[in-house]
Amino acid sequence: MKLATNSKAGQGKRFVERIYRLRIAGLGLGFFCVASVFAQQHRGYMLWSLLVLHGFIWPHIARRAALACEVPYRGERLNLMIDALLGGFWVVAMQFNVLPSVLILAMLSMNNIAAGGLRLFARGVIAHWLGFLSGLVTLGPGFSPMSQMPTILACLPFLIIYPLALGLTSYRLSLKLAQRTRELEHLSRTDGLTRLWNRRHWEGLLAQEFERCRENRYASCLLLIDLDHFKRINDTLGHPAGDAVLQAFADLLRRHFRTGDSIGRYGGEEFGVVLPGATLREAHTIAKVLVQRVREKTREAAAECPCTISVGIAQLTDSVPDYHTWLQEADRSLYQAKATGRDRIVVGGLAPVQEAVRG
Ligand code: GH3
Ligand code: MG
Ligand code: MG
Repeated sequence: MKLATNSKAGQGKRFVERIYRLRIAGLGLGFFCVASVFAQQHRGYMLWSLLVLHGFIWPHIARRAALACEVPYRGERLNLMIDALLGGFWVVAMQFNVLPSVLILAMLSMNNIAAGGLRLFARGVIAHWLGFLSGLVTLGPGFSPMSQMPTILACLPFLIIYPLALGLTSYRLSLKLAQRTRELEHLSRTDGLTRLWNRRHWEGLLAQEFERCRENRYASCLLLIDLDHFKRINDTLGHPAGDAVLQAFADLLRRHFRTGDSIGRYGGEEFGVVLPGATLREAHTIAKVLVQRVREKTREAAAECPCTISVGIAQLTDSVPDYHTWLQEADRSLYQAKATGRDRIVVGGLAPVQEAVRG
């Protein structure tokens, strides 16, 4: 139980700030609604003081108190209940003057629903009743529901401005939420180490490209690239150094391929690239330059990527029934590149001759 509490510690600070701004607007405007009735009813010093305290000082106390809580979110929900209770109290203090009473209860309820759904709304209703009771006990019963013109005019700013403020807050919140959702979606599609597409998403892109090629009848090629003897890097330089090599290689891939090419981390040190619209010859040329660049980098003194690569290429042709087969073709080519000595390209698929290219 203690663990659950701690895990929520500090939660809801932004919620507190959001409600703080709304509370300043709502209670500040609500003050004039109640004040217009009090002025009419010649209410005493105590009630006026309490009204000023609630309208203009309480928002600042509420914010500080909520932020001082271990879980600010919970502190703020308690503040909302205090608002609801005082709302009920003001209704009795105004002797149920209809327009400001309905307005205050409606705005408080709207706030509670926006902040905590039906559950908080229901709690707010209970708090209203407690407020009614405390008002009846301390002030005694009174019923004067007619709203005069000054009260109607005093209620207008609250009626107009507060819903706008609440609407604007909700709109900003939904924009932030949409932004967060986009970020999370992107994160769920990318590989944490290399920031390339992860396998699941990349296979989805491969499947899409397969369908597009089928519909529009154009050629596309698939490359599977594997770092040679990568385990040795881990064994000799350590796992973090291995990670750095994978990141450097991913950067190289990003620079090497076109923006429309889909690059993914297929496995640990294995990468896949879909080249939409590329012929076998074009794919081969692109791969050859990449192999050459990696080879050159390997020779550099402080090489970021101190190992060569093997590449398997497969072209999508009419006889490939699905994208899994396309992938298998590329994998077979890669296997042959490994089996025939690494640091090379093997072009497979339906190509009649398997081509081992060095240099
Ligand atoms: P080959 O030339 O046959 O591909 O040999 P290899 O050593 O590259 O291949 P092998 O499959 O034997 O080993 C791959 C290694 O890649 C083993 C694994 O520890 C390492 N590896 C996989 N993912 C990561 C990673 O995220 N970071 C690091 N540092 N190493 C990884
Ligand atoms: Mg390898
Ligand atoms: Mg491998």
